[in-house]
Amino acid sequence: MRIVTSPMEMRSACRGYQRGVVEQSLGLVPTMGALHEGHLSLVRASRERCDRTVASIFVNPLQFGPTEDFARYPRTFEEDCTLLEQEGVDILFAPTPAEMYPTAMQTVVDVPEIGGRLDGASRQGHFRGVATVVSKLFNIVQPDYAFFGQKDAAQVAVLRAMVRDLNYGLEVVVCPTVRRNNGLAMSSRNRYLTECEGRDAQALSRSLRHVEDAVANGERSVAHLRSSMMGDLKSSGSLRVDYADLVHPETLESVEELLPETLVAVAAWVGKTRLVDNCIVDLGEATS
Ligand code: AMP
Repeated sequence: MRIVTSPMEMRSACRGYQRGVVEQSLGLVPTMGALHEGHLSLVRASRERCDRTVASIFVNPLQFGPTEDFARYPRTFEEDCTLLEQEGVDILFAPTPAEMYPTAMQTVVDVPEIGGRLDGASRQGHFRGVATVVSKLFNIVQPDYAFFGQKDAAQVAVLRAMVRDLNYGLEVVVCPTVRRNNGLAMSSRNRYLTECEGRDAQALSRSLRHVEDAVANGERSVAHLRSSMMGDLKSSGSLRVDYADLVHPETLESVEELLPETLVAVAAWVGKTRLVDNCIVDLGEATS
């Protein structure tokens, strides 16, 4: 696996694939490192679909608020390299902040409406930072496919809108959320949790499962589903709910009636750690 840190070098390496004697399809898997099975599932999806796979590791300062965990975000570069090498990644792009942002940014990518909902409502500027860095990665790597996790459903909605609005010539591929046996969605931030918090954190996935079960059993009242979710989450000691909502999966607007496919999304602080999770409730499946 080749490791590249300079955007210029990365660009010419990717061009080499695209302009070779035989054109090769290119998949990009953007990450912030501290890799786990969720990230590796994206790499595997890219390897299946594309001739070449680029993974990136970049803890993007632009998407962290001043009181958030940028400085203490887990960084495990050596282990990450070993995992990506084992998975057959062709190039790892791992720039430093100075390489990505050599001068103060004059240009940003903002998706203000969608990017102001769910996580965007409590993390001011977060999705502007995400859209800007992903846009830069798309321009540097110029992939045919970009792989993201359903775990971050709001991010998916923001990036799909960006790709559509700005005519990026690539396909966004969304991969299912990888979970532990106890239901907890895998996340780099799970490393922050104490054993006790880890147990409390299971309330997120449990609240989603209860919504799925209720809908499968015929419950159709969104108000009832919302309040039962809140009840589940509040019953867990150290949890502080940020949002627990049923929304349109593309616009992220709250819904008052179930759609054919409704995104059920939750975010909560467990101690000092903010976790997110979600599921899609599919009325077609619930009634079949
Ligand atoms: P991050 O390193 O947290 O920025 O995540 C990089 C990518 O991995 C994003 O597209 C995430 O949605 C995805 N991802 C993170 N956790 C999971 C998971 N448990 N299952 C599937 N994808 C995930």
